[in-house]
Amino acid sequence: MTEHAVLIAGGGPTGMMLAAELALAEVDVAIVERRPDHVLVGSRAGGFHSRTIEVLDQRGVADRFLAEGKTAQAAMLAATVLDMSDFPTRHPYSLGIWQNQIERIMAEWIAELPVRIHYGNEVMGFAQDEGGVDVELSDGESLRAQYLVGCDGGRSLIRTGAGIEFPGWDPTRSNLIAEGETSEEPPPGIRHDATGIHALNTMEDGRTVRVIVTERELGPGTEPTLADLSAALTTVYGTDFGVHNPTWISRFTDMTRQAAAYRVDRVLLAGDSAHVHYPAGGQGLSLGVGDAVNLGWKLAQVVDGTSPESLLDTYQEERHPVAARAIQHTMAQAALQRRDERQQALVDVVTELATMDEPRRQIAGTISGLDIHYDLGEGHPLLGRRMPDLDLVSADGPLRVFELLHGAKPVLLNLGEPGVFDIAPWADRVQLIDASYEGAWELPVLGTVAAPAATLVRPDGYVAWVGDGTEAGLPEALTTWFGPPTAK
Ligand SMILES: Cc1cc2nc3c(=O)[nH]c(=O)nc-3n(C[C@H](O)[C@H](O)[C@H](O)COP(=O)(O)OP(=O)(O)OC[C@H]3O[C@@H](n4cnc5c(N)ncnc54)[C@H](O)[C@@H]3O)c2cc1C
Repeated sequence: MTEHAVLIAGGGPTGMMLAAELALAEVDVAIVERRPDHVLVGSRAGGFHSRTIEVLDQRGVADRFLAEGKTAQAAMLAATVLDMSDFPTRHPYSLGIWQNQIERIMAEWIAELPVRIHYGNEVMGFAQDEGGVDVELSDGESLRAQYLVGCDGGRSLIRTGAGIEFPGWDPTRSNLIAEGETSEEPPPGIRHDATGIHALNTMEDGRTVRVIVTERELGPGTEPTLADLSAALTTVYGTDFGVHNPTWISRFTDMTRQAAAYRVDRVLLAGDSAHVHYPAGGQGLSLGVGDAVNLGWKLAQVVDGTSPESLLDTYQEERHPVAARAIQHTMAQAALQRRDERQQALVDVVTELATMDEPRRQIAGTISGLDIHYDLGEGHPLLGRRMPDLDLVSADGPLRVFELLHGAKPVLLNLGEPGVFDIAPWADRVQLIDASYEGAWELPVLGTVAAPAATLVRPDGYVAWVGDGTEAGLPEALTTWFGPPTAK
């Protein structure tokens, strides 16, 4: 039986990001993906948010996505545009790029890394014991892994197989989403009515029209047809615009659920397998990438014996609240998409409030993911927040903080007197960089904070310890996050 340290069920954006993180940490990782290759039928998600671009920048691959997408210096709260141009980040925008492009670029990236992918194969079942997980595949083969991660989407077999509850809200509304051609020119822009949101947009090829239409009645769980699409368009617009030749028709709903547990022993969940919601605000893909980057280095350290298994508990502690908050936003945004005259009054009031400076920063901070704050205890405002991508100067010349994270290794950044830290017992795991920084310390939403003397930055780019000019608390933080000094 073939053995891997980690097996990932599902090679969507979350599964591929997790595989990249594990491969960078030199963990033997394989993906099992049902599709015959990475190609996605239909364009699906329309992009991702500022923090996700930063996360990709931390790995040195953001430019690949930026080169193919279109940036917009805004986060959207339903139809309300929240300006982000003053956000203190190198990427104060969201990126419009279709999910099929995102998945192609990610697949090209992981092809450069030692990741084994079993395409055209499906996880059919699994059984875990004290030492690992046996996984059955649709081709009759079995694989064994120390850990199995379900990145297998909203209908996750891994989640149900592990007996993890998925509490939340049943669907109340459904949308058809399709790509095809129309014989009549579609009307430009987005339409809102008492049912919800509708839009027809001509895509980059100038011929294909992407349709999103809210159905008047909640649609069935079966695959939608061209006749369903035509009927739904006619109900809203009085015509179906002669829609024909669909290459993709799908249905999504506002069903909203979150896994009660992100781990049962050696089985974990990430991405849509752990949380599903209405796509208002476009946060699903970014949440999955965030899960993967939070989990990857922790799982790598547990697998290679650097850290105890309890490090994995912090994955749920940190990521469950982030998804819960995003879910709350998507439900609010879904409510704001329904418009009759009374509802329009609510939308107008919310827009007026949300575009005021303080709420704008708060809400855009949440939607963009830039305000994420993991609860790592009391202390400097940087603790548990993302490390800014500062322009540093080191003995070797200028340096960006994110460049230090390309290899997904933790960094102790000493901004005080060079040579004061001795982290020899962790030197095999943690980079020690002496550098200087002259500018202000500005954090999204919070504004300017006091300059720290040093920061310990985790591989996911979050600050695990802030120095005040002494080493107080540093050995404890190094041990908590990167294992005891005598590890290995
Ligand atoms: C219309 C629409 C618009 C959206 N817009 C946005 C947006 O603008 N921005 C955004 O961030 N998000 C958006 N989303 C959400 C986004 O598409 C998802 O959140 C994202 O795809 C989740 O990624 P994932 O890798 O977790 O899951 P998925 O993309 O669902 O990937 C799961 C993978 O697992 C595979 N798989 C499933 N079961 C098995 C099995 N048993 N064995 C092996 N393989 C298996 C599947 O083939 C698939 O490749 C949108 C979604 C929809 C429907």
